[in-house]
Amino acid sequence: MINLTISGIEIIAEKKQIKNMYIRVVPPDGKVRITAPMSATDDAIRMFAISHISWIKKQRQKFKNQLRQTERKYVAGESYYLWGRRYRLDVEYSNIRNDVFVSGQKIVLQVRRDSTLQQRANVMENWYREILKEAIPPVFEKCEKLVGVKANEWQVKNMRTKWGTCNIEAKRIWLNLQLAKKTPECLEYVIIHELVHLLERSHNEIFRAYMDRFYPNWRAVKDHLNEQMLDHMEE
Ligand SMILES: [Zn+2]
Repeated sequence: MINLTISGIEIIAEKKQIKNMYIRVVPPDGKVRITAPMSATDDAIRMFAISHISWIKKQRQKFKNQLRQTERKYVAGESYYLWGRRYRLDVEYSNIRNDVFVSGQKIVLQVRRDSTLQQRANVMENWYREILKEAIPPVFEKCEKLVGVKANEWQVKNMRTKWGTCNIEAKRIWLNLQLAKKTPECLEYVIIHELVHLLERSHNEIFRAYMDRFYPNWRAVKDHLNEQMLDHMEE
């Protein structure tokens, strides 16, 4: 691990058995990571970082703006996404029951007038969870047939940094709750990606060849997902 500071930005570099040097800015807080070949000198890494500094700053600004946008207050007029479509939130007060439903171009959140931010957040989260859980089985089955493997179990989790995970030994796949907000192809891509891990553990050439075979458009969908930040979460 090498720590650099350039224009006041801290950068962590790591050397690995790879051919090319690459850089990424990691949401949500814009940490900068460089992965370099074992042969790269500290100077080469520093020059690489300097040559990307304006790009780094742009990425960090983007994350900052997105972070501001995702701090929710659960009041009318906020934007919420469902399957890649944008809706405006409407809040209705009811003492009878909490509910969320789509009405035309709006997502209507029905809660008690005196409900707290956390309670409203929970109602919305449960709604997204239900929608995603209902959508997954047919897609999952289709993807399992395509890849030719079966998982033992899948679960929906609200994860901060990952769209999906695969426990290879247990054959258990976790899918991020926030996939309900993205286009349906994102869900399909993440499921196929995690299922391919049952064939190949690492993100290596074999893995990529499987992805090319089972989901030729995977690079575009992956880029699209990576551009989007996961929601701001308190924990
Ligand atoms: Zn993976």
